[in-house]
This record gives sequence, structure tokens and C-alpha cells, in this order.
Amino acid sequence: MKACILAIGSEMLTPFRVDTNSLFITDRLNTIGYDIRLKAVVADDIGELANMVASVLTWADLLVITGGLGPTEDDMTRDAIARVLGLPLDLDESILERLRDRFARRGMTMPEINRRQAMVPRGAGVLPNPNGTAPGLWLERGGCAIVLLPGPPREMKPMLDAVIAERLAAKAQGTGLFRRVLKITGRAESDVDAQASPIYGPWTRQALPITTTILAVLGQIELHLTAQASRQADADAALAAAVQELQAALGPSVYSVDGRNLEQVVGDLLREHTLTIAAAESCTGGLLMSRLTDVPGSSDYVDRGVVCYSNQAKTDLAGVPAAVIAEHGAVSEPVAQAMAEGIRARAGTNVGVGITGIAGPGGGTPDKPVGTVAIAVAVGDETRVRTFQFLGSREMVKFQAAQSSLNMTRLMVLGLPGAREWSERK
Ligand code: ATP
Ligand code: MG
Repeated sequence: MKACILAIGSEMLTPFRVDTNSLFITDRLNTIGYDIRLKAVVADDIGELANMVASVLTWADLLVITGGLGPTEDDMTRDAIARVLGLPLDLDESILERLRDRFARRGMTMPEINRRQAMVPRGAGVLPNPNGTAPGLWLERGGCAIVLLPGPPREMKPMLDAVIAERLAAKAQGTGLFRRVLKITGRAESDVDAQASPIYGPWTRQALPITTTILAVLGQIELHLTAQASRQADADAALAAAVQELQAALGPSVYSVDGRNLEQVVGDLLREHTLTIAAAESCTGGLLMSRLTDVPGSSDYVDRGVVCYSNQAKTDLAGVPAAVIAEHGAVSEPVAQAMAEGIRARAGTNVGVGITGIAGPGGGTPDKPVGTVAIAVAVGDETRVRTFQFLGSREMVKFQAAQSSLNMTRLMVLGLPGAREWSERK
């Protein structure tokens, strides 16, 4: 089953916007057995779009278009489809009614231009949009199903899932692709792969083959496992066994097998253990707290964070003795430790984190080069302190420092040794 995805919008042909919708759509369509043979970003140009659609219709079983369903002049997906298929556009009174209603509920009258969104190529099915004004559309031509979805991701995603459940899953045949992702942090890619590849290598030759790719992203490594099966249950069983085997080998450096990111995992752990957290951050400038509070419900465990950039601030806000700074320097393990323990004492939390380092690009010395970051985490009567040497730009150093502090917190709450100690022990 061959599919094509078109993302409509001239802004995605500039250096400023990327098309991410097609990644989500690809994932969902793979799951029900569609093979994406072509995807493209098309300008807001009716001629360009009409040409593209005409050519896709000659070979595809499914064409998904996202974007260009809005009310303005430059939204022309409807018109292009109507033109290619030679269909007139009819005004759909029930869509118009719903649009008027939607505006009325906000105390507004519908602008005339929104009528465009009620125009439907004759014979098309209407896909309701609970999160916005533009409804989606469903058409068929020859052997090809055509799905028109809005551009905003929060409108597009639920609509795609609904159209898959209600219309596409039944049409799809053959095998689907199913994926699992293991997220790992605190280890080098080569080290992870050396340990993992003897395990996943043979999986490509088993009855239900699993292919594995390793992906290094900043501060973490991902193992992507993909299985192809005609029944989801078969794929699920094979993938669950594979995940378990890798987890057993790689140990506690695997922090997520269910899609959660590190701040979600740490947050869930803190909540489970009914622990609260406070942080004193220097070089990360609040990034740790920002990431922790990106998670809905984080008020259950986040108490406070302070950004103490200057020496004075480290003393004023986290109670770091001036003498410790004078003796060891602001970027040092004793200062990180005093920050973690100091902020914890002041906040009265269970967990305290201290981060101090040199994000660069200036400020490095032979002794403490750019990327040197001392991190301390205090949990119960244990405080762990480590000095890291991160590589990369200022932003990259900050991110990796926040990542490592989250990981140290995770391991300590779990009562586990750090990755380094763990691999030495094996
Ligand atoms: P609207 O009613 O909002 O105009 P629309 O269907 O016309 O809906 P667009 O105008 O094409 O959608 O896009 C609206 C916004 O949705 C864009 O500004 C962009 O932020 C987001 N968007 C559109 N297409 C994509 C895409 N392929 N990937 C990621 N985001 C997208
Ligand atoms: Mg628009």
C-alpha cells in the first residue's frame, strides 16, 4: 500500500519553519501498513499543488495533505483538489452553522472569509475538527483515498487518528510497522552499541524480525526497534521481549522505554516516592527547573529553584560559605555540594541539586576548560558530587548539565549507583 504525504505552506520552504506533521503522519500510517513513497512540501500555490496531486493520483493508494485549509486567500488546498478532480465546490450549510456557533460561543460574529472553510468538493466526506475551525475532508478517486487535514498539529493529530480508526484501518492490508524506543543517558554511544549490538544483531534473522537503529542525540542515546507484522499483538510480544533483553543488559542507564522524556521520568519518580526538590543553578541559568516544570503536575514535587550566577548570589541564595568559594573556586565540587545542601536546607525539601560550571565560549582555563561542570545531588543522608566535561556550544553544555543532574537525581532516588560505578562493577 503506497502513500504520499504533502505538507502545504510556503513558510516551510523558508529557513524558518520545518514540516513536522509529516513525521507524525508517517508513524501512524506505517503502523497500519502504509509505505510512504513520497513526501513533499508544496508552496501556497494552486497550480503547483494541483500538478503535484495529479501526479500522485497516478500511483498512490493514499494521499494525505496537511495545511492550507484555513480561511485566508493563501489557503487553497480545497480549491486545488476540486480543480484536479473536476468537482464543483458546494457550500455545506452544517459546517457553516458549526463555524458560526464556534464564533458565537466566544462572543464574536464569524468573519465572511471563514465561509471558505464551509466549501466542500462535491461528494467529499467531512471530518469534524473539535480543536479548530477547518474541518478535514475525505475523498476517493480511482484506487486512491485522499485525506485533507488542517496544518496546526493539535488539530491535525486527533483528526488523523480518527480517520485511521474510522476509515483507513479497514482499507489497509498487509503488514504494519511497530516501534519501541529505549532512551539511555550517561553513557557513550560506542559503549552502548558495543554492548547492545551482539544482542540485537541476530534479531533481524528471527521468525518475526526486529531491526534496530542507534541514534545519538544531545545528552542521550536512543535505540529504535522496529518490527513488521500483520498482527499488532505479534509485534507487541516480540518487541516487549526485545526491550526486556536490552534493558537487562544495559542496566539502569536505560531511563525510558515508553516514550517519556527524562524530566517526566524524574518527576514521576519524585511523586511516587513523595519527594520534593529544590535546585540552585549557576551555569544552567534555571534550565533544570524549566525542564522539570515543563511537565504538567510538577507542582506536586517542585518547590523552588534559584539562579545564583555570581559568587555573592551563591552565598545569599544557597548559603554557600564565601570561604569555600575562595578556597576552591566557584566551579568546584565543594561549591556544588554546598549549593545542593544549602538550597535543600533553605527550602526544606527532600532533594537538593547544585550545578556550577563553565558554559563557554569564554571563561575556560587549562585547569577548568569550557564545559567543566560540577553537579551535586543531595538525597537523604547521601550527597553525590561529580565533575563532568561536556563538549559543544554554550546551549549544548547547559542542556547536558541539566540532563546529567536529572539523571543523577533519578539514580539516587532509585537507590542505584551511577552508570560509571555500575559498569565498573560488571
Ligand atoms: P488555519 O485554519 O490555522 O489557517 P490551515 O489548515 O490553513 O489552518 P496552515 O495555515 O497551513 O493551516 O498552518 C497553520 C499553522 O500550523 C502554521 O503556522 C504552522 O504553525 C502549523 N503547521 C502547518 N503545517 C505544518 C506542518 N506540516 N508541520 C508542522 N506545523 C505545521
Ligand atoms: Mg492557514
